[in-house]
Amino acid sequence: MQYLPLFVKLTDKPVLIVGGGSVALRKAGTLLSAGARLSVVAPDFAPEFLQWQQQGKAELLPGFFTPQLLDGKLLVIAATDNDEVNAAVYQAATERNMLVNTVDDQPKCGFIFPSIIDRSPILIAISSFGTAPVLARRLREKLETLLPQHLGPLAELVGRFRDQVKAKFQGFAARRQFWERVFDSDVVRQLEANRPQQAEQQLAEMLQSELPRQGEVWIVGAGPGDPELLTLKALQLMQQADVVVYDYLVSPQIMELVRRDAERICVGKKAGAHSMPQQDTNALLVQLAKQGKKVCRLKGGDPFIFGRGGEEIEALLPEQIPFQVVPGITAAAGCAAYAGIPLTHRDYAQSVQFVTGHCRKAGDEPDWHSMSRPHQTLAIYMGILKAADIQQQLVSFGRDPATPLAIIENGTRREQRVITGTLSELAQLVEQQQVVSPALLVIGEVVALQSQLHWFGQRPGAAVFQQPLTRLA
Ligand code: SAH
Repeated sequence: MQYLPLFVKLTDKPVLIVGGGSVALRKAGTLLSAGARLSVVAPDFAPEFLQWQQQGKAELLPGFFTPQLLDGKLLVIAATDNDEVNAAVYQAATERNMLVNTVDDQPKCGFIFPSIIDRSPILIAISSFGTAPVLARRLREKLETLLPQHLGPLAELVGRFRDQVKAKFQGFAARRQFWERVFDSDVVRQLEANRPQQAEQQLAEMLQSELPRQGEVWIVGAGPGDPELLTLKALQLMQQADVVVYDYLVSPQIMELVRRDAERICVGKKAGAHSMPQQDTNALLVQLAKQGKKVCRLKGGDPFIFGRGGEEIEALLPEQIPFQVVPGITAAAGCAAYAGIPLTHRDYAQSVQFVTGHCRKAGDEPDWHSMSRPHQTLAIYMGILKAADIQQQLVSFGRDPATPLAIIENGTRREQRVITGTLSELAQLVEQQQVVSPALLVIGEVVALQSQLHWFGQRPGAAVFQQPLTRLA
């Protein structure tokens, strides 16, 4: 960050402008609208300056700049058309550690004037610090059209009720919930229709009738990694949550979309490394909801497919904590689509099984017999560590060793890697290619279609081993 944006209270603060022409005039207008006490030094002044002097808004000092004029000033603006004078102002101000702005000369600026979108008391300041002024201007125009005019009156109304709301609701989270409900309510629509009195009355009524809110838990599937695979509902809830409880499968790009000031709690690290035991996660969800918080439990893929969402709900039920479940795109669906593999196909596979490679205890073994039948697809989650076992069992139960397979690592993400081969090569490929988590195994005749279905949704930048896709979607 080259400059730090600050909003400075200038009411009655002494500011010196050096220069009396049109450039100085523009800056003076902005400073006056912020309530500054202006002194302007110049040999000549544009007529507006004289008017401002008569109205008592500016003190005019006919003559030339001297460093003594900086005494007692908060800011100084060098706005002459003479580079030497501007340089002298800059130097004198810098020596005194004063903030100085030299108009149209960015290297001689200790501070700059951003472009402003004014919906007072809401203010938006934009700057590209001289690098891309046209881009900054376009952005400003775009924001101008996006931001409704009633934003100012709304913020002002909120300001008037702040103390009452603070007195009624204990804690930041409860207050935030109240305001969020206000911003979704008719209060806003009344202001849109320019009926400020009705808006105020409605807000007062809402404040009277509000009861402190009970917390709730949203168990949300975040999909396999590409943020564009989030559902709209997932995104909405991520934006409304007070706290987000997530695990390692949720990609950093997805976490970027969480509401900025939401608390974030990570409960899971990579396979093999430390992660919070499931009971502790369950207890945490209960505890946060009991504090009245809106808890977004964000999980990779779909919460109910090897996601332990069911166990979390079982913990919420006896506590009577309200919850909702938002499905997500599961790894098998996401990875297969992005790798160009249809999980079923009329000629190649009539069914697909989602299987876990990680079994809780001996005796919970998958049904190797049914998995070894031909013409069906296996999507094996958490199978990388058990690759050798999976290969050996399937072959010994009769699955053809030449059955095609794909290992999809980091599916749907920028780093996606697709490694293809046959069942007989599974363990060897995992080892040789140093496959990392998360990775999904897809085993079945359909994998052979990958080389033909070039048009499938391959992501740019995704690496493909052995059978490169030649045409990107
Ligand atoms: N609930 C999740 C699965 C959790 S189990 C879902 O519906 O997708 C974790 C396993 O999912 C990982 O070991 C891996 O096998 C698979 N997985 C999840 N995301 C993946 C991704 N982006 N690429 C490849 N495999 C993934």
